[in-house]
Amino acid sequence: MQRYQIYIDGKWSDPSSGSWFETTEPYSGKAWAEIPRATEADADAAVRAAHRAFLSEAWSGLTATARGALLRRLAGLIERDAERLGAIEQRDNGKLIAEVAPQVRGIAQWFYYYAGLADKVGGSVVPMPRNDVFNYTKYEPLGVVVAITPWNSPMALTAWKMAPALAAGNTIVIKPSEFTSASLLELAALCEEAGFPPGVVNVVTGYGAEVGDPLVRHPLVAKIAFTGGEAGGRMVNQIAAADFKKVTLELGGKSPNIVFADANMDEAVKGAVAGVFAASGQTCLAGSRLLLQASIHDEFVEKLVALAKSARIGDPSQMDTQIGPIATRPQWEKILAMIAMAKEDGAHCALGGHALQGEGYGQGQFIAPTIFTGVTNDMRIAQQEVFGPVLSVLKFEDEDEAIRIANDVQYGLAAGVWTQDLHRAFYCVDRIRAGTIWVNNYRATSFATPFGGYKKSGIGREGGMEAIKEYLQVKSVWITTRPNRANPFIGG
Ligand code: NAD
Repeated sequence: MQRYQIYIDGKWSDPSSGSWFETTEPYSGKAWAEIPRATEADADAAVRAAHRAFLSEAWSGLTATARGALLRRLAGLIERDAERLGAIEQRDNGKLIAEVAPQVRGIAQWFYYYAGLADKVGGSVVPMPRNDVFNYTKYEPLGVVVAITPWNSPMALTAWKMAPALAAGNTIVIKPSEFTSASLLELAALCEEAGFPPGVVNVVTGYGAEVGDPLVRHPLVAKIAFTGGEAGGRMVNQIAAADFKKVTLELGGKSPNIVFADANMDEAVKGAVAGVFAASGQTCLAGSRLLLQASIHDEFVEKLVALAKSARIGDPSQMDTQIGPIATRPQWEKILAMIAMAKEDGAHCALGGHALQGEGYGQGQFIAPTIFTGVTNDMRIAQQEVFGPVLSVLKFEDEDEAIRIANDVQYGLAAGVWTQDLHRAFYCVDRIRAGTIWVNNYRATSFATPFGGYKKSGIGREGGMEAIKEYLQVKSVWITTRPNRANPFIGG
């Protein structure tokens, strides 16, 4: 079994605890690698290394163009190793091999994009209301950034933070999920190969309370970029607030996918299935509330159930598998509990509603694609994030009712609108309170455009020009052009 080490200050080392924990394959249940159980002492060493690197000539002395070149080199290495990295992530997380290799190649694109952006975010010369000064603004990095990420897309969600943070000139300490740490340690090895100076990228693995918490509290940390659940996000936000640290929080969702009667039904059915069953529903942007206009409800549900039923479920390492296992045992248990809760609240189970075990289902950590109809928006299954292959179907009569239901939830990460009426599409786009809206498609994401949440779905944005600014601070510079201080006791 492979035993990993942590990566601090350009060196590989054992954790100070001297202990490791096993990481397992969700499909087979077999342990396949040992992950270092890092401690507060390791967190401290990593932050101090990142802080030294931030101040060092080796990093801060680099031009933004040179930083971009390093990021480009890293992107090339990720492309070179995409298959190997994808296989590791597939093994650790249970993701479909059909999904994971393209996803890793997509990660390289994030690094290319921010490599290009590194030397293009400039300040400006500011026109001033007086002529005895010259004023300009410049953007500067924040310092040490801590990236804390979940298990569902380990490398992708780390790259969303790492690429803009490094492009902006920060240094970084990465704390991946304890369930899926291996691919991030492999990524650290590629950073080393790319030639990042020691301490610029550090990876410490372990449990949230043991190593995540001391990272968040560390006085030398300037910013925490966190993706995870609501409880973790709240904790991080509270601790960061005590020290006025900056945060980006990407939290959960309960996104509405709204289908009007005028939509292309076959396209919308595919969009509804992709919205919630891709990645076995383990995505923050899942379209887990399907809002159907009453006049098409029955026909749509019939087609939806037929398509969902056709999914090939099983071994995620097979190219033709469409739904794989749930990544972690606690998550699998949580999904089953939420299915029981939906039944208890009176939702009608039109498909699935149970675990899948036996031949072809590995160790049995599967959930059948589940569709609940007859859901009303006050039910817990319509309000709480499941993070699994469970869809709630709700009915509406007209646009205003659809928008009211769509917005009547604590989250605001994303939404889908299916209609062929252009005016209706714009009407909905303007009124739905969510960070991303897809019209006649669902779940597209790109490095080129911002992603993030309204309401309790988070703070800040990842992706696009917006994200690099999340890792920069602006400085305003005043230069006297005509000295004239007649009375030094008066400001201005
Ligand atoms: P989680 O909140 O349990 O864990 C996320 C990370 O936080 C892990 O690395 C964990 O070790 C760490 N952590 C836990 N306690 C901590 C503490 N006290 N201090 C510091 N770090 C701590 O989330 P999860 O179960 O791994 O992931 C699922 C959640 O992530 C879902 O709620 C999902 O919606 C959310 N998510 C959001 C997005 C998004 O972009 N909005 C994307 C993916 C996942």
